[in-house]
Amino acid sequence: MSLVPFQNEPLLDFGTEAERDRMRTEVEKVRAQLGRSYPLIIGGRRMQSDNVFLSRDPADPGSVVGEIAMGSAKDADAAVQEARKAFGAWSRVAAWERAALLLRAGDILRQRRRELLAWLAFEVGKNFDQADGEIAEAIDHFEWNARQLLALNQGKEIQPIPSEMNEYRYLPLGVGAVISPFNFPATLPLGMSVAAIAAGNTVVLKPAEEASTIAHQLYRVFEDAGLPPGVLNLVPGFGPEVGDVLVRHPDVQFVAFVGSRAVGTQIHRNTSGLVDGQRQLKRVMTEMGGKNATIVTLSADRKWAAREVALSAFGFQGQKCSATSRLIVLEEIHDEFLEAVVGEADRIAADAGHASENRAFGPVINDAAEKKITSYIDAAPGAGRMVRRGTAKGNHFITPTIVDDVAPDSPIAQEEIFGPFLAVLRARTLQEAVEIANGVEYALTGAVFARDPQELDYVREHFFVGNLYLNRSSTGAMAGVHPFGGYKMSGTGPKVGGPDYLSFFLQAQTITQKLRYPWE
Ligand code: NAD
Repeated sequence: MSLVPFQNEPLLDFGTEAERDRMRTEVEKVRAQLGRSYPLIIGGRRMQSDNVFLSRDPADPGSVVGEIAMGSAKDADAAVQEARKAFGAWSRVAAWERAALLLRAGDILRQRRRELLAWLAFEVGKNFDQADGEIAEAIDHFEWNARQLLALNQGKEIQPIPSEMNEYRYLPLGVGAVISPFNFPATLPLGMSVAAIAAGNTVVLKPAEEASTIAHQLYRVFEDAGLPPGVLNLVPGFGPEVGDVLVRHPDVQFVAFVGSRAVGTQIHRNTSGLVDGQRQLKRVMTEMGGKNATIVTLSADRKWAAREVALSAFGFQGQKCSATSRLIVLEEIHDEFLEAVVGEADRIAADAGHASENRAFGPVINDAAEKKITSYIDAAPGAGRMVRRGTAKGNHFITPTIVDDVAPDSPIAQEEIFGPFLAVLRARTLQEAVEIANGVEYALTGAVFARDPQELDYVREHFFVGNLYLNRSSTGAMAGVHPFGGYKMSGTGPKVGGPDYLSFFLQAQTITQKLRYPWE
């Protein structure tokens, strides 16, 4: 079986009038669908629930994007049972057939790409420039995993011996729970589900509460591609209810989670014990937060660096696990560079508005996020020099905050704030900068701007993060090109979009057949 080599999905160009026109049409199409009801989908059946969550436009909380039927513990259990039933047949579908179905689904997503962009704008406040990279990555997940599956399906070479025939091959694990966060509402639930399903597993997906309408759009992509009922089950619900039941369920063999450190570590704990009826230990992936640092040295191209730093700190309002939240600048260029970053932040903040108009700056996701960010802003004057104070403008809009001269051990230099908030730290040497950068409990992404090859060599060897970017922003990983995931409290590290990712969803088996008996 062979396919043309993998290629990343090209991005759309919103600079052209034709593209902007097409997006206006999609926005109006989606606007006309706002407020619809979405049921649970278990074993392919649509089911209502007494418990409904109103998923609201973060930039216009009076506007309901979707009325979401929320699952109960019983629904979570029913979904696991349906996934179990579906596993027998799905795990035996030939790998090439699974791959073909996923490629078909990728094509459907490609056709619905602009519609999805509009849903992302309304439900999570992500503008087209930011969302397009995400949807392109989601399409890539179909293409990438289909190819990875066909390659792994060949098995791997093992050492031959004359008297036996030995085979090393991969089997699916069983039923998995996929639990995803709000901030990459398409590529994360989809990336985990696609890999799990490609591998021959069946899945119960619990998306983030705030992104449940988008999860329904994604479900339709699989359904329209012909995925059999029960292979993917969609059970939106509250984390501590549905999520918790799923991760502890005796028939769930693996958990793929992306979200905060607090929830990820809780899931790690909750999946490690045995419950009645459990027949195997769970395999668990927890991809969590970051406190990502960007270092700027004397040899950097400062204009470029300032743009990249501001974009990675304030793009999508800083709500990316990979966002730069600490800027570490060498003393000699500190003042001049900070001024340039503040200028860039001003420029981004000046273009605030609704994501459906592709404005540069938008809302944070909800009241809880706004409250958390505001509490850090209020505490900031005691932790450093306020250079740019973020202000709440209503409807979850909070302008960017930049605090200078922050001590490395201060909470604003240690804790993930997950909003448009940048802590600036000074360093006397590159060595000191790297020490500060490494001095947090997270290790997800990091960036260094320097043109001196010796400086670049130094950071390659000493800056310890899952994804290190040299002379570019700490955000914007592409499937296949930048396999993504962190260390320490940032994650367990199978690296989505990388050559090892699919293996997380598979178990290897060795089959040995004796060819000659000793007396022959
Ligand atoms: P979150 O941890 O609050 O929620 C993530 C998911 O976990 C949601 O679906 C939620 O309902 C569920 N959940 C909550 N409590 C649960 C429980 N007790 N048991 C099971 N599930 C439960 O995260 P969020 O606010 O939606 O997303 C932001 C976080 O995600 C940030 O910390 C960010 O850094 C992180 N993130 C990490 C990556 C990565 O690749 N490392 C990518 C994106 C986001």
